Amino acid sequence: MNVFENAMKQLDNVARIINVDLSILKQPERICEVYFPVEMDNKEIKYYKGYRVRYNTARGPAKGGIRFHPNVNREEVMALAFWMTLKNAVVNIPYGGGKGGIVVNPKVLSETELERLSRNYIRAIHDVIGARIDIPAPDVYTNPKIMAWMLDEYETIKGRHEKALITGKPISLGGSLGRIYSTSLGAVIITEQYLKKHNISNPRIAIQGFGNAGLNYAKFMYEKGYSIVGISDSSTNLYNPNGINIEKAIAYKIKNKHLKGFDGAKEVESIFTLNTDIIVPAALENQITKENVDDINAHVVVEIANGPTTPEADNVLREKGIDVIPDILTNAGGVTVSYLEWVQNLQGYYWKEEEINSRLKEIMINAFNEVIKTSEEINSTLREGAFVLGIKRILEAETYRGRVRNGPYS
Ligand code: NAD
Repeated sequence: MNVFENAMKQLDNVARIINVDLSILKQPERICEVYFPVEMDNKEIKYYKGYRVRYNTARGPAKGGIRFHPNVNREEVMALAFWMTLKNAVVNIPYGGGKGGIVVNPKVLSETELERLSRNYIRAIHDVIGARIDIPAPDVYTNPKIMAWMLDEYETIKGRHEKALITGKPISLGGSLGRIYSTSLGAVIITEQYLKKHNISNPRIAIQGFGNAGLNYAKFMYEKGYSIVGISDSSTNLYNPNGINIEKAIAYKIKNKHLKGFDGAKEVESIFTLNTDIIVPAALENQITKENVDDINAHVVVEIANGPTTPEADNVLREKGIDVIPDILTNAGGVTVSYLEWVQNLQGYYWKEEEINSRLKEIMINAFNEVIKTSEEINSTLREGAFVLGIKRILEAETYRGRVRNGPYS
């Protein structure tokens, strides 16, 4: 089953819970598929396949990242665009959902080849994106430098400044303060709301993945005094029941590019078997599966990665009474600060970091409370609560636009 079929299973589940016809969300509004040339450094011309999917724009322009990865395909981009539509609705920012990607292994390209790839992709898709149409951002293997090339190419084609076209830019080109760590800060805010609601003090935390999202999450939680007993990256899994010195672990990771060999904790088989209260998958999709879900005995799984829990494992966690705070809520801090970047670009006036972080906090706390409220109303998991909340908001906008009949808001 491909990832888009999985996403549509989730949609069918929501349709059953709220008993409405969700046909409007069964397909993206628009799929742009391109095939374009890029000159290599040796003058050879190679051809690449790219996508930009606009899933649903009832609540505002589409918003979502651009991924450079060899496994990018049409169904994956469609699924990611669908989840972005939901995520933006859950945190109630005025966007629809979109996503883009290029089928490429960026690790084998030189810097100049990567720049030409990024610019030529924008030439191929410039007429389907725009500050009021569809606003891209970074995703897997794309970064602020790539956003800068893309913005420059777009502005050159259009002959005008258009900073609000794309978010996750370098600060000097209109990027927002706080954007680089906003996903992690948002996840910290959500974790603390959960702990407060459940009266949990001094939780032990284990984090899978020590990249941008996992490392900054560990850093913030450590600075707040939490005990992080497990960390991992693709090189190793580490455990110290007395708590890991995260400052030292970060310094080690920056110096060596991996965690293996860090002497502040002992190496273990898996991060998921550890005796902890909070498990934080912050690496890749499909990490908690039916094969390893039985090992998990935590109180809660806080999903920072996109799609880290398979549907089968999700059912087992539910049966075991382990809460899962879903990705579309937990990691929404990134797109929320992207939204704040876009607002600053449109108004041409820039806020201080404290202002941005306090707006992020307000948006995340509201979203958390609304997900809890919805899941309590429908007597379901937090994931189902988040899905129902997001889909109801999209459906309400669609109904007012007259694109849906006989819905709950007719
Ligand atoms: P990243 O590439 O910076 O880091 C990924 C980390 O995972 C690396 O430390 C890598 O070594 C580790 N890893 C890979 N395979 C592993 C394995 N089998 N076991 C343990 N660790 C492993 O990526 P990132 O930006 O931190 O993103 C991580 C996840 O968070 C992704 O699912 C991404 O979609 C999601 N996410 C990130 C952001 C963001 O703003 N960075 C926003 C939303 C969602």
